[in-house]
Parts: sequence; C-alpha cells; structure tokens
Amino acid sequence: MKRLYRSYEASTNIFKELQAKYPNYFKIESIGNTWENREINLITISKNIKTANSRPALFYTGTIHAREWIGHELAIEFAIYVLKNLETDPTLQTYLNESTVYMVPCANPDGYEYSRKHFSFWRKNRRQNVDGTYGVDLNRNFPIGFVKSTTAASNVYGGPEPFSEPETQALRDFVLSHPNITIALDYHSQGNVFFPAHDFRHEDTIDTTDMNTLCANMAEEIRKISGREYGIHQGKPPAKLISGSGREFYYSNGIISTVVEVGTRNISDYMEDMNENIREHIPALIHALKEADNYAKDNIMKRVNSFNATEIGSKHVNLKWDYKLNENIYFEIFRSTKDKQFCNSSNLISKTQSLEFNDINLASNRDYYYNIRAVNKKTNQKSPFYPQIKIRTLIEYDEYSRTYFANAKGTGYVAENLNNNPNHFGVNSLFVGVDDNKGISYAVISINVKSLPANALIKLASINLYPINRVSTTIEKYGEWNIGLVNQETMGDITNFDDVNNMEIIRYVGRPTESHQLTQGIWRNWILSGLECNDLKKSIKNDTIVLRVEGPKELTIGRTKQMMQWDIGYGSFGFGLAYRPRLELTYTIEPTTTTLYAKSIKTISKAEVIDDVITAGFDENGNKIYSTFQFNLASLPPYNDTMITKAYFELNSTKIYIKDDIRFHLEFVDENIDKNFNDITNREVIQNIGYDVSATELKNNQTQYFMFDSFSEIILNEKLKSKSDISFVLKPTSSVKILKNKSVSWEVSNNYLSPKLILEHIPKRRFPVEKVSNAKLSLENGKIKVSWTNPKNPDFVGAKVIRNPFRKPLSAQDGQKLYAGIDEYTLDDFGATDINKYYAIFTYDDVPNYSQAVILEYIPK
Ligand SMILES: [Zn+2]
Repeated sequence: MKRLYRSYEASTNIFKELQAKYPNYFKIESIGNTWENREINLITISKNIKTANSRPALFYTGTIHAREWIGHELAIEFAIYVLKNLETDPTLQTYLNESTVYMVPCANPDGYEYSRKHFSFWRKNRRQNVDGTYGVDLNRNFPIGFVKSTTAASNVYGGPEPFSEPETQALRDFVLSHPNITIALDYHSQGNVFFPAHDFRHEDTIDTTDMNTLCANMAEEIRKISGREYGIHQGKPPAKLISGSGREFYYSNGIISTVVEVGTRNISDYMEDMNENIREHIPALIHALKEADNYAKDNIMKRVNSFNATEIGSKHVNLKWDYKLNENIYFEIFRSTKDKQFCNSSNLISKTQSLEFNDINLASNRDYYYNIRAVNKKTNQKSPFYPQIKIRTLIEYDEYSRTYFANAKGTGYVAENLNNNPNHFGVNSLFVGVDDNKGISYAVISINVKSLPANALIKLASINLYPINRVSTTIEKYGEWNIGLVNQETMGDITNFDDVNNMEIIRYVGRPTESHQLTQGIWRNWILSGLECNDLKKSIKNDTIVLRVEGPKELTIGRTKQMMQWDIGYGSFGFGLAYRPRLELTYTIEPTTTTLYAKSIKTISKAEVIDDVITAGFDENGNKIYSTFQFNLASLPPYNDTMITKAYFELNSTKIYIKDDIRFHLEFVDENIDKNFNDITNREVIQNIGYDVSATELKNNQTQYFMFDSFSEIILNEKLKSKSDISFVLKPTSSVKILKNKSVSWEVSNNYLSPKLILEHIPKRRFPVEKVSNAKLSLENGKIKVSWTNPKNPDFVGAKVIRNPFRKPLSAQDGQKLYAGIDEYTLDDFGATDINKYYAIFTYDDVPNYSQAVILEYIPK
C-alpha cells in the first residue's frame, strides 16, 4: 500500500462527487463487473453530457496491468483538472464542445487492489485458472493476434480464448457500441514511450503518419512541461509483435490507437515523480482531445492526394499535391529534420491555398521530413495527414557524403562483472550504463572508413545510435550517455573490460544524452562541432575509428539498474542491419589550385585598340576606356570529373597618381565579345565579379582580388563543359558627371604581377552512373524478391533499393531502405505480400550521385 495513490473505492467516490457537482459535464457508470464483483467504472466528460455520444470521442483506458498505477491516478487528476477549468478555459470549452472524453480509469480493478494490498508486482486480473493459478493478462485477451497458451501461471497468459474475461468483454461492448470513438489511448508504465498500433504487417500504413504525429505532438506537450523526451516505437516485426492487445482491437475498429508507457518504474515515487508525470500528461491528453474530431469517420476533410517531391536540390525542395479546392480550404505544411517529430505551430512552414510549395534556403545533405494536412478555415476541421515525405537535400558542389556503419567484429559491449565479454561482439545489443549484475558496462563501436580520402576535410559529422529499449533505465533524471573518440594507441583488447575502462578518450563528442532524453524508437544523434570533426579525422588508425559509449557508473542507494540498450543491428535481437550504429559525414577535399594567365589582353578606347596594355579610365572627351581579358580553360581536367569550388581574379596596379572619384569593376562577359569600342559598349554582362575598387583603394593596396560569387561560379563550371574561352571587362565608373583624361594602368609584363585567374578545383564526378537494367519482382519462399543487373561502369559503387507503399519515390530516402551494395538482388524480409507498393532501385557512385530511380510496382496476385 502506498498512500497518496488512491484506492479503487476512493476514485469511485471522487467520481460520484464530481457527478453530483458537475451533472451537465460529468457522468460515472458501470460497464460490467469483475470476477470479484467490482463494478468497472466508465466516466464521461463533455460540454453537454446528454449529447456526449453524438460527438467524436477520445477513449482512455488505464491500469489494465494491475501494477501500472499511473493510468488510474492520471484519469482522476485529469477529470478533476478539466472540470475545475472548463468554465474558465475557452480552449477546453471549444474542444469539449466538439469532442467527448470517455475514460476507464482502471480496466483491472481486482488486480489493482491485489497489487495495492498484497503483491505490488501483480500484473494480471484475478480469474482463478483451472490449474489453481490466478490471473489472465487482460492485454493479451483481445482477439487480434491472440495466442492460445496453456501456461496459465505465466505473467502474459492470454486466457482460454479471446474475450474470456469480464473486463475485456466490458471494453469490447463499450467500444463496439460507441462508433463515435476516434482515438484510443491505453496508459501503462514504464518506459517514456508511445507504442502506436500496427496491422501486424509492419509496413507503414496510410495512417502511420497520423499516429506518429499524434504521439509526437503529445510528446512535445510533455517536453514543454518537464524537458522529458518520449520515444515512439512500433515494436519488432513481425513475429514478436504483442498478441491479443487492446490497442490492436481498437485499431481494427478504425480507431487511431496507441499505448502510452509512462515513467521509469511501474509504481513511481508519488511526490517525486508521479506528480510530474501527471502534470506533463494533462496537456498531452488535452492535445489528443483536440485532435479527436479530425479523425471522425464522417469528417468531410479528406487527406490530400499524391503528396510528392517533384524536385530536390542542395538548397531547395519542391512539393506538389492534389486536392479538390474550394475557397475555404488551405493546407498546412510542416517540416522537421528528424523522424517522428511533432507538427505544431513551431514547425508549420506554410499555410497555402496553392497545390504546390517550394521550400528554399535549406542546408545541403540534410534529411528533411514533410507533412501535410488540409484545413477548412470556416469550421477549423483538419484532415488526417498524408504519408510523410522524407528527402535528403543534395550535396553542394564541393561536397561528398558518406554513411559508415559499425563493423560487427569491433562492435559490442563489455561489462565489469561478466567473463564472457568477447561473446558480446557482433551480436545482441549494446548495453551501456550500470546494473547490479553486470556492474559498469561500456559499448565499443568500430567503424571502417577506408573510403574516406586522406585529404578529406570533414564539414559535418554525426554519430547515430538507435535506442532499442530503455526499460532498464529505472532512475528518473539520473546519468548521461556520452560518446568518446578512442586513442587507438592506448586501446588494448576491446573485448576486455579493464582495457576498455583504461583506454584514453581523446575527447567526448556532441552533447550528452541525459536519461530523460532516451527516446526509444527515435534515432539519437551526437552532432560533432568543427573541432571535434578535426579530432575525429585525426583519430583514424588503420582506416578505423573507434568510439566508446558510456553511461552512469554508479547507482543511487536502493536502486539496481540504470542501463540503456542500444541496437547493434547484428544478430537476432535487434531490428536488423539498417539499425547498426552509423557515422554520417559530409566532407570536401583539399582543392588543387590552377593559375591561368590571360591569353589576350587589350585596352579599348574610342580612338584605338592596344594589345598587352591594361588601362581603364576616361579619355580626353570623357569617353570610357576599357580593358579586356581572355582566358582559356583547356588546361583544367575534364568537366565530368571536376568541380571548380572557388575562383578569383587578381590584378596588380602600378603607381597610381590620381585621387579623383573613379572606380573600377570587373565584369564576367560572354566570350564572344568583339574587340572594338562599339561592341564593348553593347556587351552583355553575365555578372559583376567582386566589388568595385576605388582609386584610393588601389593606392593603398597594390594587389586587388575580385572574388566570384556563387552564380559566377556556376557559370564558370558551365564554361568548363566546353573548355571555352572566358572573358572579362574592366570598366571605369564615376559619380562625377564628366571626367576627362583620367586613367589607371595595371601591370602586364611582369609574370608575377600580371593578371591571373586563380581556380580551386576538386576531382568529383558530376553525374551518376547508368541505371540498373533487367529490374524485376518475383516471389521466393513467400517473400518479395527484387532483382536487377548492375551497370558495367568502373565508377559504379552500388545499388540502393527502397520500398514505399504510397508513392513512387523521387529520392533515395523516401521510403524504407531495403538494401545498398553490389549484389544484384534483395529479399524484402518484412514486406507484406498482400498489399500494393513501389520498389525503387537507384545506382550510386563514390560521391554519391544517385541515378534516376528504376521503379517497380508490386501488385498482389
Ligand atoms: Zn502494461
């Protein structure tokens, strides 16, 4: 027994009091009786209790597992909060005008009371089983995926048949007789994670974005209150999915449905933690209530159609979609840089009535996630979301990108008290932290970076780990998880605890992840600063980077574990190879500098054309005197394999005597410029290079540099294609109306001082290699097999296969990655064979440039 936590009888009394005090807003009723003959309470909160059943509804269930007390407590506090504030809070009034709340605060009253009074870790209900044991796990007693087991003593015994228990029958009957329910939330403890429903296929469904967004928006409400971050996790496909749970039953009835796992213990310290959990979940529940009417079956706001990326650049993305427009409809577009993020006002990047949107000023080589929903501005009703688009912007023209995965042999964990540490490499998970049995535990991650050139300059790096399970981090807000670069000179045996404990860490990288930021099911990344990128590069030895991951090293009194489980990707415990620890790099390489000298220089005035002289200014009649320069790009390497990354023009002045207001600027002009005064005055300018220089500046600074801007660099790169001549004009200007007989001359004869075009360039392929050929789909042992023939190009590095059930992917990121490498087939291990989907195959080179997709549509027989 723990005081502050209320008994079932106490909550029943509280609800009866609320009903007496707020009869228009609140109702308590019984929806069935338990084995021990307790009434199963259902409470309704509405702006008008008489018509509550006619509005879309949020359905809440708590404490179906006896020892998970949060559900019961939160329901009591939520009801009290809403009723107390309903008359003064206009948003609550609006939400409760539109939607209804149904709550079963405790779906397992017998088990809960048993847990309170006799055995706090009791989980099941109190049925007497035929073998003399007690209890059925009610959350295994629903029909979807029900598993018939005879081990009645088991903690997850599902009962003799689906709906064998009075508690699940009551839930079933209530849900089936209330088709107005649109969202179902089932509250459990522990793990700080949402587990949305799935259809046992374990591919994204049309409403996956809706469920992830609902959870992410609730998570954001929680984060605002306490800083705590919640994970969103659908569970492991397909065999280990939870059988017979309520969540899937509700989902199978067309209800958006998720489990919410609260806190870090089943029964937390009320004053220390439960208070905060309640405080952070009340706004999360209010958010869910706000969404309830958007998922009504009769919502006239339909999803948009065919939301697509139509163009992707290094800095922009164009999006298009279809919809039946009218004057009341607009669209909300949300952008995130991580998966499973919220969609609220802080990442709403556009409200538009158009059917397209161009997003600009993006960063290169970054992942962006886009979500869209339609809104009716008159009724404020919103449509469900269209499946999320994921793209990665292209790299800049001086960039390369690499994704490196941890290698199996060099990746594992070592624990202080275990003597089989070598067996933890290449299999299992990465356990990091401390517990009573294992002692201190470190993970070691080895990453082979052989393909990274020695002259690479790393611009951006992130280390990414997938949190697979956080259920063993049982102490609230305690400890942080860090990643360190290992000095491999001091490394020793990475499978030996003492050696790992003693290895020198060059530096820790990125920001620490604190225990309340461990978000199971959402990738965690450590983003390196510029200095850390340099050290990352320096730490490479034998083409390998070694990292040590560490968590807290001691426990607080009376607590037995603070241990985090990260996915290793290898072996049967994890989620598969896509979930290996990974290093993402964006880099450039040290450029080669080529200096070009002008092949022709002329001074052109109205009176004459003079070769090999640079003069600019005004003649005796006030007409301009120009200089022209022509260069040739033939000495540079071929266009297809070369990128000019920087360019500037150098001019050196000789002695300057004038102090008049005269300025000069350099123009990049079409190379077909003719060399006479008339043509020069009618020339077409491509772009001015750099800024004007004044006569005064020339006096102070003999050497002047004219820097190319991005646009001029693009044109210069284009000129490289034809290896054509390029031309420049030096033009004088003055604010004085008429200036006569003033000119400046520049150095020509001395090679050191003569005008130069200085180009920095790197070897880099501009275009992808050819597409794959002979692509086809077949079925092999019940799995979909994708096969193809790779192109015979020596620069071919691999083929990448992705799957998308909703659209033809434009980008190699827009879908689930199935394979990347040099094989010519892959099997879709988790792909359902009974639904339509698209497979896209891209080839890539070492930049990587991705080819256009070869798309295959799978249509079930
Ligand atoms: Zn539970």
